Amino acid sequence: MATIIDGKAVSRKIREEIKKTTAELARERGKVPGLAVVVAGKDPASQVYVRMKEKACAYTGIASRVHRLEANTPEEEILELIGALNRDRSVNGILVQLPLPRQLPEARILEAVDPDKDVDGFHPINAGRLWRGEETFAPCTPAGIIELLRRYEIPTAGRHAVIVGRSNIVGRPLAAMLLRKGPGGDATVTVCHSRTPDLGRTVATGDIVVAAVGAAGTITGPMIRKGATVIDVGVNEIGRSAEGKRILTGDVDFEQVRMKAGAITPVPGGVGPMTIAMLLSNTLKAFRLQEEPT
Ligand code: NDP
Repeated sequence: MATIIDGKAVSRKIREEIKKTTAELARERGKVPGLAVVVAGKDPASQVYVRMKEKACAYTGIASRVHRLEANTPEEEILELIGALNRDRSVNGILVQLPLPRQLPEARILEAVDPDKDVDGFHPINAGRLWRGEETFAPCTPAGIIELLRRYEIPTAGRHAVIVGRSNIVGRPLAAMLLRKGPGGDATVTVCHSRTPDLGRTVATGDIVVAAVGAAGTITGPMIRKGATVIDVGVNEIGRSAEGKRILTGDVDFEQVRMKAGAITPVPGGVGPMTIAMLLSNTLKAFRLQEEPT
């Protein structure tokens, strides 16, 4: 039976590490990292994520402020706000919560964020740096996956990683990270998507399989090579509990796959909690880059 990769426990540990560092910074320098979050509209999932980010910042001693804007806020106003946050020295990281209301041009707004404050790693400059194998801010979900592999001492060098999904927030940046030279990289990477014929045959060649699709049951037991590491990024609602709480599952058939895999992340409690932990970690990194330039 597979080792269960406990993202909740790892993320808790990272939070404690960050809390300790920010307390030291406050004591020694009288300064702590600052994160600004911009959220437009009332998308319920976004509201929940933003509250979780605020809580995580408060716990770890990162100064956060949230700019809540109406859904019909004009583009110029958001760009002006981002410009002001770019210039504000107490703000080390800027995050624009996605999705933006439909009438707002996502690419133009993300590109307005100073790449040195882009703690989500979505700016094309940072995406380009990542693909060139340069030091940069990596998007939080793939960064969390690399961190889980590292902390569970699962080697990537020389392994075949099969990623299912090619989005800009998960699949593509993860492929770039696994391809980098050095720790957490040096893998041979295959990226699959909806036009990949015979998904099962490709997945079966993976020493590391990452599912980032958004459809329950995409990855089944027979597809998995014995002993492979399986990372499930998917978050799919499959119903509601009697108390009205969302019942979530991943893209992987957990019960089948855990009998064959060497290690597996559960949903919930696997990759999910790591995303916010890596946001905190990127904010601390941004603080260091801005306060301690080499
Ligand atoms: P997208 O919808 O942007 O991308 C999904 C990808 O899956 C696409 O590349 C698509 O292919 C591919 N795909 C769809 N169907 C199939 C199929 N049958 N076989 C192979 N590939 C397929 O999703 P995201 O990357 O944004 O998110 C993926 C999942 O991860 C979602 O459930 C999301 O909720 C979750 N997620 C979880 C996070 C966390 O913190 N835990 C963070 C981010 C996402 P094509 O490109 O051809 O359309």
